[in-house]
Amino acid sequence: MLPVKVARAAGTGASVPIECCQVCGHAPLTSVLSLGYMPPVNQMVPVGAPPRQQPWFPTDLLHCSSCDLVQLGLAVDPVIIFPPEYPYTSGTTKLLRDNFAELYSEAAALLALSPDDLVVDIGSNDGTLLSNFKASGHRVLGIEPTDVGKMAASRGIPTLQRYFTPAVAADVRREHGVARVITAANCFAHIEDVHAIVEGILDLLAPDGVFISESHYLIGLMERLQYDTIYHEHLRYYSLTSLAHLLQMHGLEVFHARAIPTHGGSIRVYAARRGVRPVRDTVASMLAAEPRGETMLARLKTFRREVMLSKLRLLSTLRELKEAGARICGISAPSRASTLVNYVGLDAAIVDYVCEIAGSLKIGKYMPGTSIPVVEESRLFTDQPDCAIVFSWHIADELAPKLRAKGYRGKLLSPLPAPREL
Ligand SMILES: [Zn+2]
Repeated sequence: MLPVKVARAAGTGASVPIECCQVCGHAPLTSVLSLGYMPPVNQMVPVGAPPRQQPWFPTDLLHCSSCDLVQLGLAVDPVIIFPPEYPYTSGTTKLLRDNFAELYSEAAALLALSPDDLVVDIGSNDGTLLSNFKASGHRVLGIEPTDVGKMAASRGIPTLQRYFTPAVAADVRREHGVARVITAANCFAHIEDVHAIVEGILDLLAPDGVFISESHYLIGLMERLQYDTIYHEHLRYYSLTSLAHLLQMHGLEVFHARAIPTHGGSIRVYAARRGVRPVRDTVASMLAAEPRGETMLARLKTFRREVMLSKLRLLSTLRELKEAGARICGISAPSRASTLVNYVGLDAAIVDYVCEIAGSLKIGKYMPGTSIPVVEESRLFTDQPDCAIVFSWHIADELAPKLRAKGYRGKLLSPLPAPREL
């Protein structure tokens, strides 16, 4: 039995509160964290444009006591969250490129793919994931609603520029046949009508086909205090428990799962129709380590307190720097930086600018909800501000030596989980 009373924001041009669990329909949900109101992270205003009104959306986390899913309290219309000019590209991050190459090797070894097999990637972005399958001779098809899909197409990855829906799944099946592998990397938590998506996946998937998803991992998110990965793109924050439950509702069985390092801690989960693949030990051992029910609620309560303290600690560090007259900038403007900047309350008087590597579509725009400009990274080395806050702190240890090698001499500060000089 699938829930019927689930919030739908698509087509409203606005937002809809989540009043029952998006997966199991249970109500009421328990509020476990509030980050206040946030601007949409992907509608960045060009530098110099006159300030005009922008929507701000409440950003609360809710817990379902029935299926243990942690979810956002508000669904925002995808046209607001994923505008055609969506600026995110996965190919620019080495960690993601490496991860997708590794996903290909693992899947190829595990699934014994043949060259004729069709591989479909939902939310295929710039085609980075599929390029690995294509290089090995498989038929590939990307499905990507934003203009980033055009980049993939220009790189030779056939890409359908549409949202993935059951209708799109049926079209793909008619035109290309069934898929042996369907992947959804860092987008399975984003799509609001999750049951329709899983039904579409089932329709398109070959009888022995495999669905591979990668999602932020709730348990790692809490452990490493990555509250900055909470924003309106991410409707759901999966544990393996809640994800396996969702898939099970559609007759899919998780047969392999493991932690991967992307986005500061994610899980890669393999599922197939029940009984089709032997279930590996990885599944039981990951499930056994996860909190549930009252234990999960207690863990979330601790998380809430730690998030609050981390804000006060960062402000205290920045206050000391500012009182000493320091000039402060930011390094990199991933979506998560928007949550941190707005939750902590950083503005252009505190942070002069944020650096992005040359070529980033965010250069020349303001950080969401602020008048902090995003500039090309070269500015950091000519300007030498006293302190640089590393907003992509989840890869800070990889970034710091590179920035030093390029000549930055100031203080490098990782803002989370506690302010730390690199
Ligand atoms: Zn639920």
